[in-house]
Amino acid sequence: MNKIELNGMSLNELKALMIDIGEKSYRGQQVFTYFNRNNNLDIDSLIQLPKDLRKKISDLSFVNELKIYKRFDSRVDRTSKYLFQLRDDNIIESVFMQYKHGNTACISTQIGCRMGCKFCASTKEGLIRNLTPAEMLNQIYMMEKDTGEVISNVVLMGSGEPLDNYDNVLKFINIIHDENGHNISLRNITLSTCGIIPKIYELSKENLPITLSVSLHSPFDSERAKIMPIAKKYNISELIKACRFYERSTNRRLTFEYTLIENINDTKADLEELSRILKGFNSHVNIIPLNPIKEYDKERPIRDHVKKFQIELLKRNIPATIRREMGSDISASCGQLRRSITKV
Ligand code: SF4
Repeated sequence: MNKIELNGMSLNELKALMIDIGEKSYRGQQVFTYFNRNNNLDIDSLIQLPKDLRKKISDLSFVNELKIYKRFDSRVDRTSKYLFQLRDDNIIESVFMQYKHGNTACISTQIGCRMGCKFCASTKEGLIRNLTPAEMLNQIYMMEKDTGEVISNVVLMGSGEPLDNYDNVLKFINIIHDENGHNISLRNITLSTCGIIPKIYELSKENLPITLSVSLHSPFDSERAKIMPIAKKYNISELIKACRFYERSTNRRLTFEYTLIENINDTKADLEELSRILKGFNSHVNIIPLNPIKEYDKERPIRDHVKKFQIELLKRNIPATIRREMGSDISASCGQLRRSITKV
C-alpha cells in the first residue's frame, strides 16, 4: 500500500483520516496546525498526540521533507534564491524577496516544464514531474525557517506551469490560505500561467480571488507561437475571452506578463495591437526586459527602450509597469540556477 503524504493533506482530509482510524477529528486539526502554522515536520515531536497514535499515523503515512541544497544571497537587494533537494534527489528552485509591503515567496510547481517557452530555462529538459502539495508548502516553510521572516505573499511563478498541475496547486492554495495554518490571504497569491484556456475557465469557477497573471509576450498569434508553443493550441482572441471571464467571475484585475525582446515584440505594431486587445480590460501589463539565456540568443532591450514602451502603453490608457529586477546578481531567470546545478 502506498503511504499518504501527511503534510500535504487539507484540514478536512486530516480530520477524516483520524475518524477512519478510530480517533477524534480534533486530532486532525492538531496535526494540521503542527505542520502548517508551527512549521514543524517531525511527527514524533508532536507530543500532544499519544505515542500509539503517532505510531499509527506513521505506519500509514509519511512526512514529505525537503532540504536546502544551496542558498544564494543577493548583494544588491534583499533577495535570496534557494535550491531545494527533494526526497527523490530532484532539485527545485525558489526565491525569497523582501519588499516594504511584506515578504514574498516565488515557488516552483513542477520539476521542469513541458510548455516549451523559448526564453525559459525551466523547460529545456521537459517536464520531470509534478510537485506535490507538501513540496510546494515546504518551499515557503523552509524559507521562513531559514530567514526567520514571515512570508505574506506567494507567487506561483517559479519552474512549472501551475495549471498543468491543477489539483495539487489548488490543494496547496487551500492549505496555505487555511486560517488554521498560514492563513495567507487569497488576494496575496498570484498564479502565473502561459494560458491553458480550459483551466482558466475551471479556475474562474473555484471562487478563489487570487490574481491571475497571464504570459502574453506578443499580441500577434504568429509571433506568440514562435516563442510560446501553447499559442499554436489556443489563439489570443480565445485567451483574452477566457481572461475576461476570469475577471468578471472573480472581480480581480489581471496581469499580462510581457517579456520585451529587442526587435521581436517591441515594435509600434505590437504597441497598437496590444492596446487594442486590452482596451477596457481591468488589467495591467507587466513589462519584463528579457533575461537572456544561452539557449535563446535574443537581445535584452536597453533601459530607455523599455521605458519608452511603457510610456507608449500608458498614453494609450493601458496601465503598465516595468518589473523590478530582484536578485540580478544571483542568476537571473527562472530555472537557470537549477539548470546550472543539474547540467554540467
Ligand atoms: S515560462 Fe513558465 S510555462 Fe513557459 S516554459 Fe517556463 S516555466 Fe513553463
